[in-house]
Amino acid sequence: MHYKIVVHYAELALKGRNRSEFVKRLRKQMRKKLKSLGFDWQVRSIHDRVFVEIPTIEKKQAEQAVTELARIPGIAWLSLVHWFPEPEFRFLKGENLQPVYDLISYLANDVYQEGQRFAVRVKRSDKNFPMNSQEFEKALATCIFKTSSWQHVDLKNADQFFYVDVTSQGMSVHTNKIRGTGGLPVSSTGRVLTLLSGGFDSPVAAWLMANRGCSVDFIHFSASHHNLNDVENYKIARIVRQLSEVTGRSRLFIVPYTHFDMALLEQDLDYDLILFRRFMARVAEHIMVDINAAALVTGDNLGQVASQTLDNINSMNRAISSPILRPLLTYNKDEIINKSMDLGLFEVCREPYKDCCALISKSPRTKSKFNVLDKLETQYLEGYSDLIRDTLDETTTLVYNFGQLVFKKEFGDENSYV
Ligand code: ATP
Ligand code: MG
Repeated sequence: MHYKIVVHYAELALKGRNRSEFVKRLRKQMRKKLKSLGFDWQVRSIHDRVFVEIPTIEKKQAEQAVTELARIPGIAWLSLVHWFPEPEFRFLKGENLQPVYDLISYLANDVYQEGQRFAVRVKRSDKNFPMNSQEFEKALATCIFKTSSWQHVDLKNADQFFYVDVTSQGMSVHTNKIRGTGGLPVSSTGRVLTLLSGGFDSPVAAWLMANRGCSVDFIHFSASHHNLNDVENYKIARIVRQLSEVTGRSRLFIVPYTHFDMALLEQDLDYDLILFRRFMARVAEHIMVDINAAALVTGDNLGQVASQTLDNINSMNRAISSPILRPLLTYNKDEIINKSMDLGLFEVCREPYKDCCALISKSPRTKSKFNVLDKLETQYLEGYSDLIRDTLDETTTLVYNFGQLVFKKEFGDENSYV
């Protein structure tokens, strides 16, 4: 028996050249994802579907591939199908349909549940097939009645569907439809840099951008330097590793905020939080230029904490000329937590994380006028460009590719490691 994975992509409304470009990117992401799982399988487009050719007869491997592919942005739904290739089976002349009836009968018995109703859905994109869709549906339903215990059909609200798709290249049969995450394939809409902290919000924000087709890199501001030997065990690195199972290739830049901290030491400014935000944006913007990122992303959520006010958001925006995107701005906290659970990030995100933001005052300013901040920065943070340079000089870089660490480099280190 041949298996294939059939993928129906999301955003069918996309038109013309855009669409073919998106499908190309989707196929590329799928191929890379499969490779990362050890499956060097072909991914092809036929009509408005993408097919994964599965050489193995190992059903377990095929099922694992389906589960993992369902997490890739750009897929509406997908199915593991039994595949009867034309011309081997000569369906189009209607000569040898017995193997299809045998399989339908096997599947009908396999999925049977007492009291439930079924329906057969035939799609015939090759009109050479001798029966029309309704005739073939009836013939298959008759076979199910005769060879299994199914007794009731319900065309609209069936509990169990049997799907048969007749194309010029062969016929697929399946009983399952697995939902994908929708959206657009990664790398189809540009690159963003995400400000990643130790909580729930920024990883979810990064995922939302990836699911709208962005390639995503990360920057984290840390109080401590990390030993390169085990930097990948650091909470932030584990979050990025996990996200990269979906985002594909993602870089993590870890920079110290110690220079900023030192500069403000003993100043006792209650503006320190928003000054820190502006500092993060400025350092990040330097990296954005290097990696060609079009926007910065944060996990900000309006009003969630005292510092996340419109005033403070505005003051941060004024610090740099690149756009700052905040995909979670209007989310409720429970929606964010639920999303982190769906993404399998809840456990790692809830781990305690002390490293970050020790410098922040207990009652941060909720109102901050950017012209006041400009003045404070001139007054207390003279040498701002040195501050940025010193910070960037101490960057540690990790690169992940579909869940694998593929590169790491510490500041001052000429060598790179895998
Ligand atoms: P999160 O759940 O993402 O930690 P939060 O609710 O704790 O967010 P804040 O700590 O106010 O909110 O941070 C708001 C946003 O600022 C974060 O979502 C993140 O994008 C960015 N941010 C905060 N601290 C850091 C940091 N140390 N390094 C990089 N980005 C940071
Ligand atoms: Mg935080």
